[in-house]
Amino acid sequence: MQKTELLGLSLEELKVVLAEKLESNQSYRAKQIYTWLYAKRATSFRQMTNLPKELLDKLVAKCSIGRLKIAHESTSVDGTKKFLFHLQDGLSIETVLIPSEMRNEQGELRRRTLCVSTQVGCPLDCKFCATGTLKLKRNLTTAEILLQIFEVERHTGETITNLVYMGMGEPMLNYENVVASLRIITDPEVNLLNKRRVTVSTSGLPEAIRRFAHEGLHVKLAISLHATTDDLRTQLMPINKRYPIADILSSVDEFYRETKIPITYEYILFEGLNDSLADAKRLSRIAKRVPSKVNVIPFHPIDFTHPTGIAATLKPTTEEAFDQFLATLKSLGVLVMVRTSSGKDIEAACGQLALAEAMGPGDDGVVSPTVPTLISIA
Ligand code: SAH
Ligand code: SF4
Repeated sequence: MQKTELLGLSLEELKVVLAEKLESNQSYRAKQIYTWLYAKRATSFRQMTNLPKELLDKLVAKCSIGRLKIAHESTSVDGTKKFLFHLQDGLSIETVLIPSEMRNEQGELRRRTLCVSTQVGCPLDCKFCATGTLKLKRNLTTAEILLQIFEVERHTGETITNLVYMGMGEPMLNYENVVASLRIITDPEVNLLNKRRVTVSTSGLPEAIRRFAHEGLHVKLAISLHATTDDLRTQLMPINKRYPIADILSSVDEFYRETKIPITYEYILFEGLNDSLADAKRLSRIAKRVPSKVNVIPFHPIDFTHPTGIAATLKPTTEEAFDQFLATLKSLGVLVMVRTSSGKDIEAACGQLALAEAMGPGDDGVVSPTVPTLISIA
């Protein structure tokens, strides 16, 4: 008999499992199990010492607590760590831990940001993104999203202070599981993370953004904009044909009206494509619709995916153009941040998550497929 996986279940769902599978109507037991799973991070039922033996026996026989295996770990010169997880069905995902010693608003020095994946691959095929070249294999379960945090904390002994849904995949296309994971993560009783330190990044799916606005989660939203005209954005991000910029912006307006949480716009600078004065001016108008900041991101080349078409022509903007673009935005009153390229040397920077190890040797022939392959492009 297939055991029922408990990790990822909400308190209400645990109550149902208890009543239907374990014949226990004592709903406070569900609360105890919930606390063991998420606040105390139990990995086996035998650790749940305040449960009666009879219930424990039933739990052991009928239920399971999932784990994820870290199959490979690489560390960048800047301290960024990339973890390759093997999933039960043989697929793999990557998760990135970015340390920084910056002082945040609370005056703390140590920041540990974890970048989690939400899908194996991604169906949206953005031309600059390595993950997009994988296509979608499947959505991650709620447990698989949570376990990226739990396993990295267990493995490194670090406490995650900030969480970004910016790894592999489009969070809004795995809506239910992403929201379920956020409910647990932001539950004050679980005490995992302050919701203000959780950001969900999306390529901009208006219907999902509107729905997300009303979830009452109060986490931050980042929009991967990358272009200020529909013509260019559609070339870079094919999904823009279905959801043009104006539609995205009106859903963002609704998100802000509902949550009062400032928006982050992400903007990769590509040489000669989106780095002009006119682009900066259009971007500043977009950024001023509702309170927001712009994260300007250096383009991380993805040559290891052997790009073709427009993808093969993309280049990072020059240092001068980068600085000029920032200066123009600032002079127009936009709050601008530069997203650093943590982990670039280990292909852990934004958009580089594509299981490079699994992609086999490229033209340079140096990558050896040492881990089971998710895809076989070679
Ligand atoms: N699917 C979501 C979240 C994952 S992508 C989204 O698109 O927002 C996380 C971020 O990395 C996005 O802002 C994405 O645009 C950016 N990114 C993708 N490829 C990149 C690259 N090659 N260089 C720099 N940033 C990249
Ligand atoms: Fe998917 Fe985001 Fe990459 Fe686009 S940038 S292909 S939406 S992961």
